[in-house]
Amino acid sequence: MTYYICKYTPVEILDGFGEKYRLYNPVAQDCARADQLIHRNVCSFSRALIETCVKNNSNPIVLTSCCDSIQRTYDVLQAEGHKVFMLYLPHNSQHCSKLVYKEQILKFIRDYAAYSGKKFSCAKFRAAFKQNSQSVVGGYIGVMGARMGEKMLEFIKNTSPLAIRNNTCTGVRNLGNPPLTDDLEELMDWYTDQLLSQTACMRMTDISSRRALVDDPNLKGIIYNTVSFCDFYGFEYAHIKRSLDVPVLKIETDYTPQVAAQLKTRLEAFFENLKVGKNKRQFRYITPKHFQQIYTAGIDSGSTSTNAVILDSQQRIVSFSVLPTGAHVLQSAEKAFDSALNKAGLSQNQISRIVTTGYGRTNIDFCEKDVTEITCHAIGAHFLNNAVRTVIDIGGQDSKVIHLDEDGKVLSFVMNDKCAAGTGRFLEMMAQSLGLTIQQMSTYGLKWEEQITISSMCSVFAQSEVVSLIAADKKLEDIVHGINQSVASKVMALGGRTGMKPEYMITGGVAKNIGVVRAVEQRLGSKVIVPEQPEICGALGAAIIASKD
Ligand code: SF4
Repeated sequence: MTYYICKYTPVEILDGFGEKYRLYNPVAQDCARADQLIHRNVCSFSRALIETCVKNNSNPIVLTSCCDSIQRTYDVLQAEGHKVFMLYLPHNSQHCSKLVYKEQILKFIRDYAAYSGKKFSCAKFRAAFKQNSQSVVGGYIGVMGARMGEKMLEFIKNTSPLAIRNNTCTGVRNLGNPPLTDDLEELMDWYTDQLLSQTACMRMTDISSRRALVDDPNLKGIIYNTVSFCDFYGFEYAHIKRSLDVPVLKIETDYTPQVAAQLKTRLEAFFENLKVGKNKRQFRYITPKHFQQIYTAGIDSGSTSTNAVILDSQQRIVSFSVLPTGAHVLQSAEKAFDSALNKAGLSQNQISRIVTTGYGRTNIDFCEKDVTEITCHAIGAHFLNNAVRTVIDIGGQDSKVIHLDEDGKVLSFVMNDKCAAGTGRFLEMMAQSLGLTIQQMSTYGLKWEEQITISSMCSVFAQSEVVSLIAADKKLEDIVHGINQSVASKVMALGGRTGMKPEYMITGGVAKNIGVVRAVEQRLGSKVIVPEQPEICGALGAAIIASKD
């Protein structure tokens, strides 16, 4: 098996040698070996590629000179004793560039023949050209941007309510039919022209052919993928976001499974809120026609707490519970549900439907359906106050800013999915350093005198800053106020990316921290609505969905 990484790779040449080949977008469990071989700031694809090639001894591999990271990957793999072919790829499809690339391809034929001991066959080469079919009938979601990890692409295909077209840089490959000749020069003239005239990737100088990717009336949404430490695609994303009115979700692939869970939540929320197709969600609340008591439940399995809400058929909250999430998601959900049932004096068989949400939602097997926390928080917040247009949900391990329309439908959302700064975990870490309880933390900062700025955006560095402030004998009240300001600035940085509109509501456990709420209000220049039980907003949304289905 020969591996390759780029759509400009002349893989049909490998057919000419009778070889098998595979486009490689591997996800690495970790990059421990790659980290010893190359700087951490090369693009995450290159690190995952090095890690996988070295671990699996993936040989031989054909690279193109896509960018500096790939050049360095070539150096590293060669130094590790791998068989690597490198093709120097031009930046445009002008005549001289085609001549240069044709020479590269002819050299590749010579090099591969020497490596494999096989003879190149023009007939086998010509037979390799099957038409690339990505034919999709009707509306579809385009996955655009940079190459994407194989598992993530598979997940998107399996989860999307609409067909998926892979229009990422390596996904769109379009070549014609070769001329019926065995003249190698003539064949390679044609082939080079075809390779370089494909829908351009963002590395090319003329990207006008990319227009066709977004001009299609059947395009109903875009998942725009970027790769960490690669900036080819950031500009196109900004342009698309500005100029198209189809829903766009930007994600970043880091080629490791670590952020996969959060990425999946964001993708599911995007699909749930698409305005198209059979799975369209109408977030209007129905009043049950018959008022005999039918109870429904929502369970929010979060990283820190598991919350349950039970509603009656008039959508009144009958009871709720908030319990810590232990090591076992399913057991915590059962406990929270039982606790809410006990409070309501109900038994499980009186609950007609259960919907789950939160990180652990898919692991709860006694529910009818699971829905992302983005959708559930939006529905819960709209239910509590239909004037709300921005929900700031600060949870235990992440924070989200969700924009709603007047029907409570999600217009857009952003999620801090990379670090704990600006989350409940961050506040817990700071409370620990200060020797305060979470309850004390929530009010201490209100009595501040000196303005202290915690400048570090990273929780670990911010903790060191707090330790230095304690050592400098700063007052606890002032340090706590500085911490609250830091959480508020993180929220603003997150929400500011898409614009925040009043009325504002804070949900999640951190909403009980008055100091943080005041700091957010000060930054927004506006009052913020804090529901009576801010932790149960997601579970409430889930229970409402259960009552409508
Ligand atoms: S960005 Fe272009 S050159 Fe780089 S791998 Fe993708 S298709 Fe190939």
